Parts: sequence; structure tokens; C-alpha cells
Amino acid sequence: MKIIDRLSARQTFSFEIFPPKGELPLETAYEVAGEMARDCPDWISVTYSAGGSGNSANTVPIAASIERDLGVTALAHLTCLGSTSDDVDAYVDSLGEAGIENVLALRGDRAPGREARDFGHASDLIAYLRDRGSELCIGAACYPEGHVESPTEEESFRALYLKQEAGADYLVSQLFFDNEDFYRFREKCLRYRVRLPIVAGIMPFTSVKQIQRMAFTCGASIPAKVVKRLVLAGDDPADQARAGVEYACEQLADLAANGVDGLHVYSMNKPSVAHAAREALLACGYLEA
Ligand code: FAD
Repeated sequence: MKIIDRLSARQTFSFEIFPPKGELPLETAYEVAGEMARDCPDWISVTYSAGGSGNSANTVPIAASIERDLGVTALAHLTCLGSTSDDVDAYVDSLGEAGIENVLALRGDRAPGREARDFGHASDLIAYLRDRGSELCIGAACYPEGHVESPTEEESFRALYLKQEAGADYLVSQLFFDNEDFYRFREKCLRYRVRLPIVAGIMPFTSVKQIQRMAFTCGASIPAKVVKRLVLAGDDPADQARAGVEYACEQLADLAANGVDGLHVYSMNKPSVAHAAREALLACGYLEA
């Protein structure tokens, strides 16, 4: 099923997983995906070498298993920095062989030794996929607080407009901790003629350290209300993580009440997070039992 068809029909609910790091076997990802599938997501996305981790070879096998073994739509991420068009062709062929119809087309983060080869930006990758005649449903990333490298608001929105014009079908947002940032962004999209459906991405904070890292890597600001939650949670890591999930569920319910196109949970390979999100969205009527 193409994600754009789902988004055209109703508000969506989805999760993200990342391939196992280090020596962990692939089976751990299958188990995580299997548990998350019980919470009936519209799709599960699978990251590609996220954070420069280099673990990109397992994206397609995991996405294929989600489609084949779980009967859930899979969204395979793909980054293009450092890739050639031959690399992209090979990846797209592997998606076709696995029956995967959805790709999230990304540039990827800059890293030493990862220079642009055939693609400088995500919009180049999207244009290439469309020129190649690809019938893949193509998603792209957006940034409610602007991309960290964008010097101005205009440049951030220009990049989104280019993705739209290149042939992206919809956008998935970077995480944010203040829904007002998302609502402002959504309004501005219209002003900058970006009219694609926007899926809001929410990630629960888990600790002071993790949220500080997010602030630097994703450019997400940390509102005072989040700092207060962390202070009130105290020093126990379990209490901090619980506060993060509670806060994320409140964000999701508020977004649901404000008519989002879709909600995507950065569930960090934790089925308990995915489950809590579903419960919150059942309670507020966004999802039906
Ligand atoms: P681009 O759209 O290319 O934008 C990058 C920067 O270049 C921006 O500042 C933009 O304003 C600017 N820009 C764009 N086009 C032009 C142009 N034509 N001229 C001048 N400037 C331009 N990373 C991974 O490694 N693996 C993943 O699986 C992954 N999944 C992600 C999922 C989501 C939903 C999101 C939001 C991010 C994800 N990332 C992932 C991170 C992403 O790769 C980084 O945020 C990256 O820095 C930018 O990717 P992009 O696709 O938005 O790039």
C-alpha cells in the first residue's frame, strides 16, 4: 500500500525502528517489529544508516520482513550523500524485489569522508527517482524549527518546495518538543507554497543527556516545560524515561486534536513506547479500537 493513498484516506499512525547496532542479530529487529505490529500502525519505517551508524545493509531485509511476515506497510529510508546513481539504482531494485512501495528520500547527515557524489540534496535524489520513472511513493523530511544547516527560514522552506516540485508525495517531520512550533510551521508551509501532507514526528525524551544530544543533532529546542518535567522526574533514569513517554503522549493527543495529517512515533525500538502512544490516541479518539 502506498502511504500517500493512506494519507489521502485518513489520519495515519506509524512507528519507526532502526536496524540493530553492532553485533546484535537481525532477529532482534524482527522481534521489535513483530511486537509493534500488534499496535496496528499504518506503517513502520526503517532507518538507513541513521546518525552515520553505517548500518544501511539491513534496512531492506527488515522492511521486507515487515511487509511479508507481518503484513504491515514498510517505509524504507534511503540517504544519498556519498552515493552514486548506480548505488541508488541497486537499492531501488532491491525494494522492487522485496515488494516495498515506499521510500523516505533523504540527504543524510554530513560526516567526515561522506562527500556528495551524484546527489547534493534530497531533492536531487527525489528528482532522480522520478526521472527514472519510479512509481515508488516518496516521502521527504521536514523541520518545524528549520534544518540546522539552513541559515534562514526562506532557505529552509525553499528546500521543502524543491522536494515537492521534484516529486515528493508527503513530508515527515523532525522531532519537536513544543507543538506550537509545528503549528507555526504548518501555517508557514502554505505561505511558501508547500502543500504536501505533513506527518508530525514525535520522540519521547529519555534522559537529560539524550535530550541535549537531540538539541544539537536535530536543532530541536527544549522548552521550559520539558526541563521542568525532567527536574520533577528526579535522578532515576526510569522516572525520567517515564516522564518522557507521558509528555510525548500529551503532545500526540494535542496534535490529534489539532487536525494533523498523520502522527509518526520515533519509538526507538521500544514496543512499550509504541504501545503507550496507541493507548493515548485511543483515549482521545484519534484511533478506533
Ligand atoms: P536536504 O533536503 O538535502 O536538506 C539539507 C540541507 O540543505 C538543509 O539545510 C536544506 O535547507 C539545504 N538545501 C536543500 N536543498 C538545497 C539546495 N538545492 N540548495 C542549497 N541548499 C539546499 N538520516 C539518516 O542518516 N538516516 C535516516 O534514516 C534518517 N531518517 C530521517 C527521517 C526523518 C523523518 C528526518 C526528519 C530526518 C532523518 N534523517 C536520517 C536525518 C537527515 O538525513 C538529516 O536531517 C540531514 O541533515 C538532512 O536531510 P534532508 O533529506 O532533509 O536533506
